[in-house]
Amino acid sequence: MVKIGIMICDRNRKCTGNKCFKSINERDGAFSEVPRKETIEIVGWMTCGGCPGERLEFAPADMKKYGAEVIHLATCYLAGYPACPYIPDHINYIENVVGLPVVVGTHPMPQNYIDAHENMGDWDRDNVREYLKNLVEDKKASEKYDSTRPNFLKPTDKD
Ligand code: SF4
Repeated sequence: MVKIGIMICDRNRKCTGNKCFKSINERDGAFSEVPRKETIEIVGWMTCGGCPGERLEFAPADMKKYGAEVIHLATCYLAGYPACPYIPDHINYIENVVGLPVVVGTHPMPQNYIDAHENMGDWDRDNVREYLKNLVEDKKASEKYDSTRPNFLKPTDKD
């Protein structure tokens, strides 16, 4: 079993979390290397609290108390425009003060967000490519998570 905590960008504070939970259930994106037979327990889910991370000093430490072994910064940290400029600070604090490893990302980056960011060029401008590694390389997965597609979640998506 692996116990995780998830921090989300406060710009998505009203997010239902569907894509994150789907990616955990279906072992996509940042969870693609966790064997299906291994249980992933979510011990906490919380917004960062707003720039530059109002809940950063509280939430990951609280998740650790409840058993979190790793903190995921959700894919929304990078999906929003612009990407979160505080990712290095969040990683640094969680790893070095809270004492937990950080994984940037949860679900695959949906293709519609990839298209928008490639158009804008901000991922290169803001030097965040290193954080996108597990989120954009599988085109099929990115298309699967693009909820703007007319056949989103239709049976044909499951092949
Ligand atoms: S941009 Fe970063 S610091 Fe600001 S609300 Fe989103 S995750 Fe938090």
